[in-house]
Amino acid sequence: MTESSERRVTHEADLVIVGAGAAGATAALEAHAAGATFVGLDQLGEFGGTAITSGGGCCIAGSRFQQARGIEDSWQLALQDLIEAGDGEADAEWGRFYLEHSARDLHDWLQERGVEWIALKWQEHHSVPRWHQPKGAGRGIMLALWAEMGRLGLQDRWHFNMTAEDLLLADGRVVGVLARDQQGALHEFRGQAVIMATGGFMGNLEMVLEYGPHLRRVEKVLVGGGRGAQGKGHRLLERYGAQLTHMHNLWCYVYATPDYKDPEGRRGLVIRGIDDNIWVNENGERFHNEFYTGAGMATPAVLQLPRATCWCILDRAMASQMDIADPYYRRGQEVLRDRVEELLAHSPYIWRGDTPAELARNAGLNVENFVRTFEGWNALLASGAEEDPLTGRKLKGLKPFTEPPFYAIQFFPLARKNLGGVRTDLQCHVLDRANRPIPGLYAAGELCGQAGGHIAGKRALEGIMIGGSLFSGRVAGAWAAHEAGYREPVHLDARRPLEAATV
Ligand SMILES: Cc1cc2nc3c(=O)[nH]c(=O)nc-3n(C[C@H](O)[C@H](O)[C@H](O)COP(=O)(O)OP(=O)(O)OC[C@H]3O[C@@H](n4cnc5c(N)ncnc54)[C@H](O)[C@@H]3O)c2cc1C
Repeated sequence: MTESSERRVTHEADLVIVGAGAAGATAALEAHAAGATFVGLDQLGEFGGTAITSGGGCCIAGSRFQQARGIEDSWQLALQDLIEAGDGEADAEWGRFYLEHSARDLHDWLQERGVEWIALKWQEHHSVPRWHQPKGAGRGIMLALWAEMGRLGLQDRWHFNMTAEDLLLADGRVVGVLARDQQGALHEFRGQAVIMATGGFMGNLEMVLEYGPHLRRVEKVLVGGGRGAQGKGHRLLERYGAQLTHMHNLWCYVYATPDYKDPEGRRGLVIRGIDDNIWVNENGERFHNEFYTGAGMATPAVLQLPRATCWCILDRAMASQMDIADPYYRRGQEVLRDRVEELLAHSPYIWRGDTPAELARNAGLNVENFVRTFEGWNALLASGAEEDPLTGRKLKGLKPFTEPPFYAIQFFPLARKNLGGVRTDLQCHVLDRANRPIPGLYAAGELCGQAGGHIAGKRALEGIMIGGSLFSGRVAGAWAAHEAGYREPVHLDARRPLEAATV
């Protein structure tokens, strides 16, 4: 570290890494494994990015974990699913690269670094269960990677509360970033190449509405991206001619209600653990098979409602099982029940009633229709029918509404992950608008729509977001290190068959 004449602190290494989330972490470890040094920075005060707050579920095809549970899967099957879900907009080359490597270079690689896989879940658009759940969710993954950095003596290479504001260029190459610390002092981070891993823009409502015009008519769009997901990397790289692609592909969920504690009223809370619920529109009628809660199926159903909002109905027993995916409502794996009760009691978007009619009146729903829906649902479950004739929902094991008070939680679309971003080649070089690499500049993670620019297309396979970010981070770290003079990353070379690509 040196002080230049302009009183800028200078930090130097082979590589500069911007962003200490999923992609930044794996880029750092991969660069180190190749022998390169790095210096990293993040605008937040601590390591982990959005990834540390995430569910951490990774889309992995053909893992030993699946095999041990008798699930037959392959990267070819997963690629077919990816392409179908992407509806003509998934990047098949990046999809193949990622999925072919996912068992070895994600599942095994993370496990070797202390990540414990604990369950497999089926998710929409997947032919088989391949959403691999890590112990401790995203936190479990990121703390394992941080511990690995501790073992390797790399933790102090990271500078926190440090925001990259500009790129540094020399002879037409990117050679660093100009950053500002919390006190306003300028810092130069210099290296032979820069890896941008600044995450997405789903914490920035203006960008969400800019790129998602279909959301502008929506009464209320909630933001659900990470705190650091402000799109700063997109804006910065755009200024230097980087190509942004498929920016309109936004991954929104609808099982979210406003966080009434947010002073700006923009953040949303994702509600989980309420499998027995039903959803109604303002006419008090069901409109969707509530088994499918995901972005690919539930979100379009809610967006086509006149006000793009609906109400989720629970009884007291169901409300007692409710879980909220937000740090305020959890301590690690434990749900803080008193805080959930506080939300149920105080949110202006949650209504209650001792009878269905009272609930409908309080929530502003059509009372007559709602009572019919409510009683009809209970009667259907009592009849022993196996399938709901209206939506095809399977009824086995679902519990009826019995115990008052009954609740209506208003749901709105919540912008969670962006599926488009900065376009890169298969070595993570950032491409300009004429598809030429910008010398010295690499990018990975959600900045690149998780990998390459648009690995997923219109609809994603769940788990490909953090999975794609972790994997593309490794690819960026490996190839940037190579550019800085270190080993050729044959193990992460999309042109080589996997068997030939040993570490
Ligand atoms: C609540 C939630 C749950 C999720 N669950 C899942 C899941 O189960 N499975 C899945 O596949 N995906 C999930 N995701 C998505 C997943 O977390 C992201 O896709 C992933 O974290 C992206 O990794 P990243 O490294 O690109 O970005 P991040 O993890 O967001 O890291 C980027 C970092 O860059 C920093 N940064 C940004 N701009 C600058 C700047 N100018 N200067 C310095 N630093 C900067 C940010 O502060 C941040 O720390 C979830 C997302 C959310 C919000």
